[in-house]
Amino acid sequence: MSTIRHVLPVLFVLIFLFPALTYADKAVIQVDNLNVRTGPGLNYERTGQVNKAETFDIIKEKDNWLQISINGKQGWVAKWLTKVNKSEAVQSNKYQSKVDYLRIRSSPSFDSQVYGHLMRDQVVQSTKQEGEWLKIDHKNGWVHADYVTATKDQAPSEPKEEEKKEPEPQKSIGKIKVRTNVLNVRSAGNTKGDIVSKIRNGDMAEYISNVNDWYQIKLQNGQKGWVAGWLVDEVNTVSMPDPPKEPPKKPAPENKQVVELKYNHTNLRKGPSTTNQVVGSGQQGETFPVIEKQGEWYKIQYKGGAAFVAGWIVKESTSTKPDQQGTINGSLKGKTILIDAGHGGRDSGAIGRSGSYEKTHTLQTAQSLKKALENKGAKVLMARDVDEYVSLSIRSYYSNSSSADVFLSLHYNSAPKHVSASGINTYYYHNRDKPLASVIQKNMINATGLKNRGVQYGNFHVIRENKKPALLLELGFLSDITEEQTIQKTGYKTKVSQGITNGLLEYFSK
Ligand SMILES: [Zn+2]
Repeated sequence: MSTIRHVLPVLFVLIFLFPALTYADKAVIQVDNLNVRTGPGLNYERTGQVNKAETFDIIKEKDNWLQISINGKQGWVAKWLTKVNKSEAVQSNKYQSKVDYLRIRSSPSFDSQVYGHLMRDQVVQSTKQEGEWLKIDHKNGWVHADYVTATKDQAPSEPKEEEKKEPEPQKSIGKIKVRTNVLNVRSAGNTKGDIVSKIRNGDMAEYISNVNDWYQIKLQNGQKGWVAGWLVDEVNTVSMPDPPKEPPKKPAPENKQVVELKYNHTNLRKGPSTTNQVVGSGQQGETFPVIEKQGEWYKIQYKGGAAFVAGWIVKESTSTKPDQQGTINGSLKGKTILIDAGHGGRDSGAIGRSGSYEKTHTLQTAQSLKKALENKGAKVLMARDVDEYVSLSIRSYYSNSSSADVFLSLHYNSAPKHVSASGINTYYYHNRDKPLASVIQKNMINATGLKNRGVQYGNFHVIRENKKPALLLELGFLSDITEEQTIQKTGYKTKVSQGITNGLLEYFSK
């Protein structure tokens, strides 16, 4: 039992760690109720929450997450919801414009007045930051942080140094292909990362990690960078025969025949027998356009390709309901929808007559809607996908910083003083969103047959503070006994999801 053998490594570790802790960078939290987790990712357990403007020492960074020290304990927070203050550069706060004619605005918003410009390389001092905006000493205005860079006069620990310290080349885990004209490659996995390179439509690159809808790719010069996941497609590198694909005949589907699934968790397969691989599953009430019948099986349109479903577990009908204007046959490919399941965690929302929680219904609906939208080729983002508390400001912040084309907040209503109130209604805040509201409302009513309470203006945070087309949907009354029972059936959530999906199909087809 030699003690010296035990003490030496400990001493070594202490000496090694000490400087790092002394010169820690600070993370300034940008939103309220930000979850602290046990590891760098949304799938790690939550251990607590931190709030806007609170500041913590950063221990390390991984995959766009920061490990911070909270009262001596360690935890991980999403880096994109914090602002990092470099230890040495905190005092300086000098920024340089990256472009000519950078607009100086009267307040931190794209809607505000422009009353000046910065020229490329012009240096200004920033006095504070609000979201993505920096207040500058020049003309006392605001500029967008994407277009300036912190000046490097005194910053001993540049991120580049850290990159050099990462010794081993990381293994690629897949390949992506660009599907936009020109795609920015950035130094970090968010739109605030500096642009380090550009790649073009059709270019392919290997990626080494995939975090929060961003891919970290290897560039041809050996460098690494990040690209937005919604502007690329994953390329299947496994040399397997493709699943049976139909030649594209979008303009006129020959056949308006659809099948409706009779059961939840119905398997959709690669071929017309139960020995074929399962490629997906569907829920009761979901419908799919039929390509053809093969024996006892239906070949159906599924996620831009085809799949097979057994004939004895579906209902056949000749077309979708006539009042749905055939929108069921369109596609949402290239569209990103952010689904915001209302409430969650300690905020249960309304409580139904039988005691069911609004937060549970909204989450189930969000999951059902996600499937329905993905079946139509849409990309789906979720403001929450578990039962957890997410503040309203995080929800709108997420929307504004995401690639979403539409933001939909899902809710269920309650009127304890008018227990017989029933039906669906849709709220918009900005006038620009009124047409979207009408078309979604109409299709939800068509799909569910619930009472039509119409489209209204509503002053709700998540739609008011939203820069994307944003609606708040009230999908039925939990305070009405019969309506609560309707809502509790899985079939209802599938139907309303189909209605919303049809609404989006109709909206984007215009
Ligand atoms: Zn609600």
